Amino acid sequence: PPRAVDPGRMDEDAAEAGLRPQTLEDFTGQKASRENLAIFIAAARARGEAMDHVLLHGPPGLGKTTLAQIVARELGVGFRATSGPVIQRAGDLAAILTNLQPRDVLFIDEIHRLQPAIEEILYPAMEDFQLDLIIGEGPAARSVRIDLSPFTLVAATTRAGLLATPLRDRFGIPLRLVFYTAEELRRIVSRGARKLQFDLTPEGAEEIARRSRGTPRIAGRLLRRVRDFAAVSGAGAVDRVMADAALSRLEVDSLGLDAMDRRYLRRIAEYHHGGPVGVETLAAALAEARDTLEDVVEPYLIQEGLVLRTSRGRMLGERGWRHLGLEPPPRQAG
Ligand code: ADP
Repeated sequence: PPRAVDPGRMDEDAAEAGLRPQTLEDFTGQKASRENLAIFIAAARARGEAMDHVLLHGPPGLGKTTLAQIVARELGVGFRATSGPVIQRAGDLAAILTNLQPRDVLFIDEIHRLQPAIEEILYPAMEDFQLDLIIGEGPAARSVRIDLSPFTLVAATTRAGLLATPLRDRFGIPLRLVFYTAEELRRIVSRGARKLQFDLTPEGAEEIARRSRGTPRIAGRLLRRVRDFAAVSGAGAVDRVMADAALSRLEVDSLGLDAMDRRYLRRIAEYHHGGPVGVETLAAALAEARDTLEDVVEPYLIQEGLVLRTSRGRMLGERGWRHLGLEPPPRQAG
């Protein structure tokens, strides 16, 4: 079964489109990024020019796509979305670029998965709004240059470290998204409940927020699951006890960890005495892709101090031991 707390996109998340904030004003959290964007948007509007290119990086589900859409809306321009793995051939990207209207926002999700040959096409497009295409093959091949409308590229990546430096350097506005605080998530959950016309007490919202791994996408998903649970049990307003019962049934624990997270923590504790252990070893033992561990599972565990990333590999943090109900070994205690 899919993990309820997987921050990645799932089919059921189509339902959450209605919960997406539509304006910067409505967007909760990410204060630094929001303030930056507000200034750049205002400046671009005042000049009537395309805004500088934006690179959004951070774990999945934190609002990168949502912010890209908001940027387009606040600029009053068109929005076109694609993603790194979807663009297979140079012609695919050329077709998208040549169809952009002046000042449009082009959103490329997972830009770190763009093929290098296609990345090369992006450089002159981003810098000079020009497209260099090779037409024909062999001795008959010739290159043509096409002028593009000035546009704003908003790119998203889960790991900025995977981007080639020349690509990274072409973004005038790099923004790092961070995990949301419990209070920010509580506001997002309460607002979502109101939109869904779902009677949730403030304490119920707090419980869902606390178990959402700092991630609005997970908060939205847990909110819908709790609502379904409440619909079946047929009580009135959903309070903390009811929210807790629903989430416990989903095997989402008090910190928002699920079976996968606990398997990961237990592996380090039981097979490696708390580590250090290499991520490849863990990935093989847990039958998960290394990328999934690094992009999806680990960021929250590390941020919460459950796991430590050291030069020699992953180690269980003191909180990790305690969360498993185990005593940390003496060298780590205190
Ligand atoms: P990403 O592109 O980073 O994976 P999304 O922008 O798709 O994340 O956001 C996932 C979902 O979380 C969205 O559908 C939206 O409903 C919700 N969301 C994200 N950020 C916020 C926020 N700041 N306030 C309220 N909801 C949010």
